[in-house]
Amino acid sequence: MSKESVAENLKALNSPAPAAAFGGSGEPGQLPDAMRTPEAQATINATIAEAVRSVFASLAPMFASMALTPEKIAEAEKIRRAPDPATVARELRERKLMQQDLAEAEQQKREQQNACPHQYPTGQLTWHVIRNFPDRQARFSCPLCALWVTPREWRIAAPDAENPRGRAFIAEEHPLYREASRVLASKGI
Ligand SMILES: [Zn+2]
Repeated sequence: MSKESVAENLKALNSPAPAAAFGGSGEPGQLPDAMRTPEAQATINATIAEAVRSVFASLAPMFASMALTPEKIAEAEKIRRAPDPATVARELRERKLMQQDLAEAEQQKREQQNACPHQYPTGQLTWHVIRNFPDRQARFSCPLCALWVTPREWRIAAPDAENPRGRAFIAEEHPLYREASRVLASKGI
């Protein structure tokens, strides 16, 4: 449809309706003389008003269902933000796999540490001494199995509701601490 014809159509909206719409043959928009009485006019007005009212009454439920309530907006937002189920499933699967791998590696390290003699083939103890701790107690480490041996010491655990900076607690000494401490005498340090 060209621009001119659109303008023509819009112009037609402003002009009066054709006379045929009122069933008369006189001037456009004029009622027949027989209907030009106050009573007839009142009847026509009432009929039109009733028709318009009934049309809007029947549309009311549709308007109500079309209304954008906050609940509907929230619901739509929730659907829009909902993650893709396939992505979520994949992340859960990969996380589970990673946890299994970590647990397996931890288990292997533990088995290796349990089997380690913490001695070189010559019989010399392997314990390395680490002394630069603020509580002045020595720590020991085995270079063969990466075992870390601690005395009874303060530790900071993960934060909780009462301890936002971490929960401090005293950890008991490592079962091998006394045994590892013997290296101090044998090395004379
Ligand atoms: Zn070891």
